[in-house]
Amino acid sequence: AKAAGRGTFRFFTPTMDARAQARSRLAGELSEALEHNEFSLVFQPVVNLADGSVGGAEALLRWQNRYIGAVNPDQFVPLAEEMGLILPIGEWLTLAACREAKAWQQAGLGDLRIAINVSPRQVQQTDIATTLRRALDESGLSPRLVTVEITESLILNSGTEIIRKLERVRDLGARIAVDDFGTGYASLSYLKHFPVDILKIDRSFVSEALNNADDARLIEAIIALGHSLGMKVVGEGVETRQQQAFLVERGCDLAQGYRFSPPLSAERFRDFVRNFEPQ
Ligand code: C2E
Ligand code: CA
Ligand code: CA
Ligand code: CA
Repeated sequence: AKAAGRGTFRFFTPTMDARAQARSRLAGELSEALEHNEFSLVFQPVVNLADGSVGGAEALLRWQNRYIGAVNPDQFVPLAEEMGLILPIGEWLTLAACREAKAWQQAGLGDLRIAINVSPRQVQQTDIATTLRRALDESGLSPRLVTVEITESLILNSGTEIIRKLERVRDLGARIAVDDFGTGYASLSYLKHFPVDILKIDRSFVSEALNNADDARLIEAIIALGHSLGMKVVGEGVETRQQQAFLVERGCDLAQGYRFSPPLSAERFRDFVRNFEPQ
């Protein structure tokens, strides 16, 4: 065992392969990322399709490590969960996101909604309602402006305890969105039992909407399903004017994607809202 900086030990053995070593290095850095202020949030605008106005943003987590560089959330979020770090990271990002949305209001940008991602294991391992309530208290943000994004894989293998956790989030006044809807192989019957307000159509359907009739029909079906259950529907990964028009024509409520904007720093998001012209 060899000491590697304050509070961490990394174990290298001759049998450990390069991937395991890289992972061990990542884990060591990740365990200190919060105290070194290496996390930040970026904000991807969510646009109202009816009038082209900005309805809010999805907060996406970024980790910039001084040695390793930028690491994708797809890579480090699962690791953070395995290491038991997802509670403090989740607390940090929930507060940071709520503070930012409160600052938009105070800057006169309007009542913009903020969406926060929570992974299945994060919901299982932590008390997301308490984390959110603290962040709301501390930031002064109205819970009505918060959306919590969950995925279908949470629903797939979870019982009444998970439903109760989500209901507590909803009881605070926040909304719940199902992210990547249509990709999780979950039986649709969960929509009866889970407190769900918003369906986010996965990017894979949107990107094929104009080339593939099946994807087009699936999008239409998801919009009809969501609306018939009183939900709002968001199209994700909209990259072209044609994809935008497709969703508008079918009555989709909201959209996000490179067509409108990539995820932006806090400062650039504010400029985006100030300068936004419907397109
Ligand atoms: P997601 O929640 O489905 O986020 C959407 C991802 O698609 C983001 O990648 C975003 O940058 C990307 N994207 C947005 N518009 C477009 C587009 O028009 N075209 C294409 N090709 N991509 C687009 P990102 O930021 O790398 O996040 C990846 C995933 O990591 C997220 O998927 C989410 O599952 C997870 N993640 C990100 N932030 C957090 C977080 O704060 N907490 C948790 N638990 N997971 C997070
Ligand atoms: Ca999401
Ligand atoms: Ca998504
Ligand atoms: Ca995703």
